Amino acid sequence: MLLKNKKALVTGSSRGIGRKIVEVFLANGCEVWGMCTKESAGKAELEKFAAENGTAFHEFYADAGNAEVLTTAVKNALGESGGFDVLVNNAGITRDTLSFRMKKEDWDSVLAVNLTSAFLVCQIISNDMIHKKSGSIINMASIVGIHGGAGQVNYSASKGGLIAFSKSLAKEVGSRGVRVNCIAPGFIETDMTNAVKEEIRKAWVEGIPLKRAGKPEDVANAALFLASDLSLYVTAQVIGVDGGMGA
Ligand code: NAP
Repeated sequence: MLLKNKKALVTGSSRGIGRKIVEVFLANGCEVWGMCTKESAGKAELEKFAAENGTAFHEFYADAGNAEVLTTAVKNALGESGGFDVLVNNAGITRDTLSFRMKKEDWDSVLAVNLTSAFLVCQIISNDMIHKKSGSIINMASIVGIHGGAGQVNYSASKGGLIAFSKSLAKEVGSRGVRVNCIAPGFIETDMTNAVKEEIRKAWVEGIPLKRAGKPEDVANAALFLASDLSLYVTAQVIGVDGGMGA
């Protein structure tokens, strides 16, 4: 019950890493507002699981790539909650192709969903956290935001930007008791990586010292640490959850 009596907003909550973060937070007594684009397959299950853990799960919908829709929805959720202790900016997309083939709309959409949305949501939520003088913001970056990735100039730029953004915000809000950190996952088994060809996935595993792909719970456990008071002296950091892939 590391998050008892805390409230969290998690974007990209319907599937993969975000869905597991919601489950782990609920299991630790947190009340969670999950954001995705449409009603998720697991909504009823998460509501039931929340009730069994003496808390509640609320799902709401917005396109993170649409600034106006996003800010309205997040402001509503903030008002409904009365204030969040934890924010996880996790919604993300890929539009992979080599840079010389990449269309400008593939660049724009990835930057909008992965980076600009985090800026917009942080602006709303961190302002409220500053007034309460506490809060933990967790931004979901990626190993390619540090090392780069062929075929991913848009995605890696968005994640590298998210890391720099998070460190800068941590410097702005630290004196008000608000912490900002990133998680940089490596290769995690979700819908996002299932779309990648089997031979590429095999090559990735070969290069991982722990010799396996990560699971969403590997990332969710790092998010639990950063969300909880166990990490009260941790800010402006990038925690790799990559089985050693980035070494
Ligand atoms: P995923 O399985 O594809 O799930 C993506 C989540 O983001 C879904 O909940 C989806 O909601 C939401 N989302 C996508 N576009 C959205 C939009 N325009 N507006 C609102 N929500 C949107 O991805 P994942 O693998 O769990 O990835 C989660 C995060 O971890 C991402 O930021 C990703 O870049 C990062 N990451 C993943 C890996 C990996 O190996 N999987 C590695 C490094 C970093 P809907 O269901 O409504 O579409």
